[in-house]
Amino acid sequence: MYCEECGSKCRQVHETVVRRVRDLPLFEYRVVLHVPRRRVWCDQCGGPRLERLEWLGRYQRVTARLAQACGQLLRHCTVQAVAAFFDLGWHTVKSIDKARQSASRPLPST
Ligand SMILES: [Zn+2]
Repeated sequence: MYCEECGSKCRQVHETVVRRVRDLPLFEYRVVLHVPRRRVWCDQCGGPRLERLEWLGRYQRVTARLAQACGQLLRHCTVQAVAAFFDLGWHTVKSIDKARQSASRPLPST
């Protein structure tokens, strides 16, 4: 188990909460994962922090691969069209779009 904040290894689980996370659809079916999301006790940060999961990423409600698929469609489609295609909320897809645009934007030079 690793701390999402600082990345250091943690040994103790502080608490576990089951979260519903959307994944890529399987044929015509919606896929909802019930993920036991652990908060670990991080000695570096000095408190409970979320466990780092590579496949969940920053978007707590969708998997990294669903966010990536949305990002690919958002190059050619509107937020509303992508939300309807994956049956996701408009705000969820909009936040993926904002993160995609800020990641592709070059950092300002000083
Ligand atoms: Zn930490």
